[in-house]
Amino acid sequence: MMLTPNQLNFSGGPGALPESVLQQVQQAIIAVPDVGLSILGISHRSDWFANVMHELEHNVRSLLGLPPNYHVLMLQGGATQQFSMIPMTWLRGSTEAADYLHTGYWSGKSLTEAQREGPMRVLWQGGAIGNATPLSHTPSSIPFSRLPMDDELDFNPRAPYFHYISNETVEGLQFQRVLGRDDVPRVCDMSSDFLSRPCEAERYSLIYAHAQKNLGPAGVTVVVLRDEWLLQAKQDAPGFLDYRTHIAAHSIYNTPPVFAIYVVLLVTRWLLNEVGGLANMHAINTAKAARLYQVIDESDGFYRSRAAVADRSLMNVTFNLPSVEHEQKFLAAAQQAGFSGLAGHRSVGGIRASIYNGLTQEAVDALAGFMKVFRGLN
Ligand SMILES: *Cc1c(COP(=O)(O)O)cnc(C)c1O
Repeated sequence: MMLTPNQLNFSGGPGALPESVLQQVQQAIIAVPDVGLSILGISHRSDWFANVMHELEHNVRSLLGLPPNYHVLMLQGGATQQFSMIPMTWLRGSTEAADYLHTGYWSGKSLTEAQREGPMRVLWQGGAIGNATPLSHTPSSIPFSRLPMDDELDFNPRAPYFHYISNETVEGLQFQRVLGRDDVPRVCDMSSDFLSRPCEAERYSLIYAHAQKNLGPAGVTVVVLRDEWLLQAKQDAPGFLDYRTHIAAHSIYNTPPVFAIYVVLLVTRWLLNEVGGLANMHAINTAKAARLYQVIDESDGFYRSRAAVADRSLMNVTFNLPSVEHEQKFLAAAQQAGFSGLAGHRSVGGIRASIYNGLTQEAVDALAGFMKVFRGLN
């Protein structure tokens, strides 16, 4: 069976979505079934949209097994706005520093925003400060090529919170465990691996994930927030940047991105009904990643994994070739063969195959086959 260009989209974000979801989206652009209106012209104050929000929240709760003391919010501003909203809410005026990990490009962005709001400490530093980490072909000199081990982390028990990123999308590093102390509020950016595996959500005070890697189009960010932690929230945030505003308004404080939210609903239905839940999704994602890492590991050093083996991401498989020239040739040949989105993030170069939920095993097998053939010819 021929795979379409869309099925071979290995983009780091926005990521590929399941075909069955896209077909429903296509129909909804013209007319949402039972409503008769285009999704682009339905009021966010309609009963139909109230039901969309209700079902979406319900689906997220059941996928994660969330207890009732958690809020599920659909916010705007992307993960980047959460980088600010979190320290504005829980760090302003604090005398104790929040603990942050610097494990890659995106956590680097999160620290910069926290520093503006209050005292913070970088508990672990995986590379040079700043974001530019130029491509290097000597593995030992690659910054952000591994994640910290438990004995390298000395958590502050009085920190207002501890923040980390579960999957560093640019570097292809993913934690395979929950980090931090259970008595310090735990905050996690799961933008690039949310709903890709079970995550023990009830151990976090706040989880956030924008939609455009694994869940849908850009424009909506899912926030899962433990109610009790709001008691510690500062009182001086502007209305739009106050979590309590959005809780009170059931995420319809102002005009929400109706289209993006509807697509996320379709993706959660797909996860529940077609995939059969997060444990199944995790098994599929594990098999997909294993296929690519196997090709890398069996290539006699032709393909060089950027990430330490224990910290390899199931979502973003990053690697280098023997030279920049090889990499350019690889990307050109891949494009010719129908694969897209394989260039590494502009800050690090190299190759990155992003294999989010919507990317199928068949597509991964096709890429693995291509990599073997390319190696044989070069
Ligand atoms: C892509 C990405 C971001 C940036 O998100 P925006 O929605 O563009 O603000 C933040 N964190 C992680 C982990 C990402 O992968």
